[in-house]
Amino acid sequence: MNYPVNEIFETIQGEGAKTGVPSIFLRLQGCPVGCSWCDTKHTWEVDKTKLTDVENIINVSNTSDCWADLDEQMLLTRLQNYSAKHIVITGGEPCMYDLRPLTELLHDNGFTTQIETSGTFEIYTHKDTYVTVSPKVGMKGGYKVLESALNRANEIKHPVATEQHIEDLHALLAQVTHDNFVEVCLQPISQKKRATELAIAECIKNNWRLSVQMHKYLMID
Ligand code: SF4
Repeated sequence: MNYPVNEIFETIQGEGAKTGVPSIFLRLQGCPVGCSWCDTKHTWEVDKTKLTDVENIINVSNTSDCWADLDEQMLLTRLQNYSAKHIVITGGEPCMYDLRPLTELLHDNGFTTQIETSGTFEIYTHKDTYVTVSPKVGMKGGYKVLESALNRANEIKHPVATEQHIEDLHALLAQVTHDNFVEVCLQPISQKKRATELAIAECIKNNWRLSVQMHKYLMID
């Protein structure tokens, strides 16, 4: 299966329960969700005129809307050039695509995988993929967070700036019906002081985990 890939780079995971894990980030192009504060708006459109060569999306940190068309075998070959063994598939919205061919090949070759999704698309991935759902509620694209996505999540990482976001999170958590442990992380939006203070207070109150986007404080990708 072919995937539109916006960029591939190696770094340290800066968000959620896996903060600190050396990771290769694979960013897919395409997202219709429409979050106003999105920091990867360049990934929203899959514009065929922006198709580019793979060399232009490897280890190039930028906000380009170009993408390369790669299948799972081509991706495996590229990913085997790095040291890290943990692959984070992000976007854009990676669950617009069937991630089973890619994640199954990666697990067969000794990698672990993680996906970061808004929860607005059905999740098709390897059974051992660590799924981070960062629910996007009421965005302009009009997509709803799916109950099936919440119940596949290993971690729910919720962006927060206001009390309304906390209420939204409680409503989402009420839809989680399985008994498996789900890590809940609050992530202040855009490192704002008020959002961070609110997140800290709610984490303590609810025994949730704080996710501060460590990479932004370290000023790394
Ligand atoms: Fe941006 Fe993610 Fe929202 Fe899509 S779901 S608009 S990529 S923040």
